[in-house]
Amino acid sequence: MILILFGPPGSGKGTQAQYLVDNMNFQHISTGDLLRNEIKQNTDLGNQVKGIMDAGLYVPDDIIIKIVDNIIAKEPEKNYIFDGFPRTLNQALAMEQLLGVRHLKVDLVIDFSVNLEELVQRISGRFSCAVCGTVYHDKFNKPKVAGVCNKCQATSFVRRQDDDETVVKRRIEVYLEETEVVRDYYTQKGALVTINASKNLDDVKSNIKDCLSQVGFTI
Ligand code: ADP
Ligand code: AMP
Repeated sequence: MILILFGPPGSGKGTQAQYLVDNMNFQHISTGDLLRNEIKQNTDLGNQVKGIMDAGLYVPDDIIIKIVDNIIAKEPEKNYIFDGFPRTLNQALAMEQLLGVRHLKVDLVIDFSVNLEELVQRISGRFSCAVCGTVYHDKFNKPKVAGVCNKCQATSFVRRQDDDETVVKRRIEVYLEETEVVRDYYTQKGALVTINASKNLDDVKSNIKDCLSQVGFTI
């Protein structure tokens, strides 16, 4: 199963992907997380993309496509959730090709619809566990015990550098300019279902469960 969680930054893709990974046999591929990991490890690739990401712009397609191709080439049989990819029409076309040569296809695209004002509010309150990466929010999704990660009990948390309000606005603009077209592409293919991702976490979860069961996947 190849599932794409599609939507603007802050719409809740990573949070829901985590839930699916915890409850189903999926591997979560967030291109943003992979790139942040390169930056953390100070690799050549990390140094190449850091300035671009800090500015809220897109990393060139060839870099992103190579990362995804390498992952699928290693384990083409897995169930994947893509989060934050594809983000341009070129990436969507490349995805189709790299799956096609392995007799795979995108099975479902879940489109997270959220109004833009809410995105800024969500992103500006986002923080995550410094150890396992679990994502929280200052108001909407706090750890059960203040200051302690629900999942791994770590007590240190981080905020993303590109979650600063000015950069967030830029990221949303870039999304509207470059990524909306990807929705049209998957709509034409009949693979896209839109959900109301402005609802609370549990309602969104149950909506996603319904979408998955309609294509034969049950949680
Ligand atoms: P994305 O991966 O799409 O950028 P995240 O999953 O990181 O988005 O969510 C952005 C922020 O919004 C996080 O702080 C998260 O805890 C919070 N969040 C996610 N889903 C919801 C929701 N349905 N209602 C309120 N807050 C949410
Ligand atoms: P995200 O974690 O999905 O919010 O992505 C953070 C940043 O990583 C983006 O603002 C881009 O700079 C970069 N990025 C992640 N995925 C992609 C992609 N598919 N195409 C281009 N840039 C990406």
